[in-house]
Amino acid sequence: MKNILFSLALALTTVCTVAASADSSRPELASAPYRPDRGSVLIRCGALIDGRSEDVLNDVSVLIRDGRFSRIASQIDTPLGVEGLDLSDYTCLPGLIEMHAHILESFEELVDLTLYYGYSHEDFMRAGRKYSQLSVAAGFTTVRNLGNYYGWVDRDLRDEINRGDTVGPRLQISGFYLTIPGGGGDLLEPGGSEDAIPPHLRMGVSRSVDEFRKHAQEVVDGGADVVKVIASGAVLAYGGVPGEPEMSYEEIAAVVEVAHAAGLKVAAHAHGAQSIKDAIRAGADTIEHATYIDEEGIALAIEHDVALVMDIGAGDWMIEQGRKQGWVEEFLRKTIETTQVQRESFKRAHEAGVPIAFGTDVAIFPHGMNGIQFAYMVEWGMTPMEAIQAATSVAAHYLGWEDRVGVIKPGLMGDLIAVKGDPLDDISILENVRVVVKGGLLFKAPEQNTP
Ligand SMILES: [Zn+2]
Repeated sequence: MKNILFSLALALTTVCTVAASADSSRPELASAPYRPDRGSVLIRCGALIDGRSEDVLNDVSVLIRDGRFSRIASQIDTPLGVEGLDLSDYTCLPGLIEMHAHILESFEELVDLTLYYGYSHEDFMRAGRKYSQLSVAAGFTTVRNLGNYYGWVDRDLRDEINRGDTVGPRLQISGFYLTIPGGGGDLLEPGGSEDAIPPHLRMGVSRSVDEFRKHAQEVVDGGADVVKVIASGAVLAYGGVPGEPEMSYEEIAAVVEVAHAAGLKVAAHAHGAQSIKDAIRAGADTIEHATYIDEEGIALAIEHDVALVMDIGAGDWMIEQGRKQGWVEEFLRKTIETTQVQRESFKRAHEAGVPIAFGTDVAIFPHGMNGIQFAYMVEWGMTPMEAIQAATSVAAHYLGWEDRVGVIKPGLMGDLIAVKGDPLDDISILENVRVVVKGGLLFKAPEQNTP
């Protein structure tokens, strides 16, 4: 009898131990400081969209080892020492890619851009850390930061994230805007004094082909990952006319020459039809906004394999909030003028077969809301799968990071998100990302959400 009781107690202990270990085997939530890209985890996905294939896999296991995808199979035995994450009630996708963000800035300054004159490096860093965390929580594990007024703060933020001192996405940074005086990347008001603006906010303001070339070289030498030019007028800049060119063809070409010689891509802000064509002919790799693209521009984009990054998700939010918040009247007017025409251009360009990568210009609406654009992309002509690929494999290609992110496949970084339900049935589900893994580390856990 004693022996039986002992055995029973032992059996119960064993059961409890198993239960406890199953429970504790869930990876812990990563928080700063952490060792980036060193996580190992075995994830069970109810469904899996890999970012490139048209097919959805059901009931599949994904193994991430030392930060990278290692195996994808219907059944994988748990390797010793690797924790498990049960997402069998979820759809898994690659970590999402935002091609056009301003990670240090926000819509709050659209009441008066001169507020930026007084902001310190640390003010921008503090904002950047906050917005970085919001991006990751929204499922955007890779973000291309296309400009900040205060030169190089994005580089410091990128390096901090890469060291594991801040939670944030993989950042491609551009250092500062290359723009004409009073252009879309400058804070000069019409009739205002250039002397009133602190020089660290105008590092890329250029007056000639030679100055553009010199400043582009500074962007390259300073450690940027991508070069941003403001080719045409901007919506959210004083005095800019979105349809009108600001940089000449020769100026854009000079920047492209410097960037490409260093192996960097060029992202060209261009709303107007002429600037879009000038930028493509000059060799730009992506066209940002592309609002007034014409048929010739569409043909050129296809011919040169240039992707359009069209921020068609923000307009409705901006118009509603801009009125409430008292944004600069000129900015509101131009937002209203460009919102619908850009969506129509998106539809035409997509139907013609121009590559389109997901980019929202986030900052002009709240960081972390990037996912609202998916529904607009579907409304304006994409299939849900095309919209997903625009934010995964297609975006990775135009980042030049195909060997790193954008697809769930062995060898790439272990960046994976999960949503409840089927995004191919309802794309807006991507506005509510429930689980985020980056480099094999868990940054957002299922239980953080209410069911
Ligand atoms: Zn922008």
